[in-house]
Amino acid sequence: MEKTDIKSLTLAELTEAIKGLGEPAFRAKQLYEWMHRKMARDYEEMTNISKALKQKLSDNFAYTCLRAVRVQESQIDDTKKFLFALSDGNVIESVFMKYKFGNSVCISSQVGCRMGCKFCASTLDGVERNLLPSEMLDQIYSIARITGEKISRVVVMGSGEPLDNYDNLLKFIKLLTDENGINMSQRNLTVSTCGIVPNILRLAEENLSINLALSLHASNNDKRKELMPIANQYEIHEVLDACKTYFDKTDRQLTFEYSLVSGVNDTEEDAAELSELLKGINAVVNLIPVNPIKERTFKPTDRAGALSFKNKLEKNHINVTIRREMGRDIDGACGQLRRRHLEEE
Ligand code: SAH
Repeated sequence: MEKTDIKSLTLAELTEAIKGLGEPAFRAKQLYEWMHRKMARDYEEMTNISKALKQKLSDNFAYTCLRAVRVQESQIDDTKKFLFALSDGNVIESVFMKYKFGNSVCISSQVGCRMGCKFCASTLDGVERNLLPSEMLDQIYSIARITGEKISRVVVMGSGEPLDNYDNLLKFIKLLTDENGINMSQRNLTVSTCGIVPNILRLAEENLSINLALSLHASNNDKRKELMPIANQYEIHEVLDACKTYFDKTDRQLTFEYSLVSGVNDTEEDAAELSELLKGINAVVNLIPVNPIKERTFKPTDRAGALSFKNKLEKNHINVTIRREMGRDIDGACGQLRRRHLEEE
C-alpha cells in the first residue's frame, strides 16, 4: 500500500491520522509546525519528537522533500533558477526572483504540460504527472531554506497548467495560506492559466482572494488557436467572460499575459484589435517578448516594437506594463532548464 503523503495533509487531517496511530492530538500540531513553519527537511530535524515516534511516522507516511540538483544564478539580475528532483526521479523547475517590494517564487504545478502552447518548452513532451500539494509547497520551502531569504509572493506560472491539477492546487493554496503554517496572504498568490473556462468559474466560487492571470497572447480567436490549442475548446470571449466573473466575485487583480511574437501577434492591427477586445475590462496587460526556444522558430518582438505596442494600448486606455525579463541568461522561460537537463542526461 502506498504511504500517505504527510506534508499534503491539512492540520485537521493530520490530527486524525496521528490519533489513528494512538498518539495525542498535540503531536499533530508539533509536526505541522515542523513541516510548515520550520520547513524541516526530514523527521530527524524534529527535536521534540521521540525516536520511537519518528520511526512510527516513517513507517506510516511518506515525507516529501525536494532535492536541488542544479541551481543557476543570473549574472544580469538576482534571479535563481532551481532544478529539483522528486522522489520518483522526475525533475521540475522553480524560479526565485528578487524585487524591491519583496521576493517572489515561481513554481511548477505539473511535470510537463499537456496544453500544447506553441511557444512553450514545458509542453513539448506532454504531461508526465500532476504535482502533489506537498511538491508545490516544497518548491517554496526548499528555496527559502537554500537562499535563507523570506518569500513574500508566489506565482503559479512555472511548468504545467494549474487548473488542470485543480484539487491539488486548491489543497496547496489552503496549506500555503494556513495560519498554522507559513501563513502567506492569499493576496500575494497568483495563479496563471491558459484558460480552462469551467475551472476558472469554479475557482471564482471558492471564496478565495488570490490573483488570476490569463495567458491571452492573441487579439482574436483564430490567432489564439494558432498559438494555443486550448482556444479550440473555449472561445476567446467565453474565456474573457469567465475572467470577468472571477473579477466580479473576488475583486482581485486580473492580469492578461501577452507574449509578443515578432510578426505573429505584435502588429498595429493586433494592438488595435486587442484594445477593442479588452475595452471596459478591469485588468492589466503584461507584455513580454517571447523567449525563443530552439525547437520553434518564433522570434521575440524587439524593444522598440514592444514599446510601440505598449503605447498603442495606452492610447486606447488599456493598463499595460512590459514585464521585466528576469533570468533570460539562465533558461528563464518555462521548462527550458528541465529540458536541457534531460537532454544532457
Ligand atoms: N499553464 C499556465 C502557467 C504556465 S506558463 C498558463 O498557461 O498560464 C506561464 C506563462 O509563460 C504563460 O503566460 C505562458 O504562456 C508563458 N510562456 C510560456 N513559454 C513562454 C516563452 N517561451 N516565452 C514567453 N512566454 C512564455
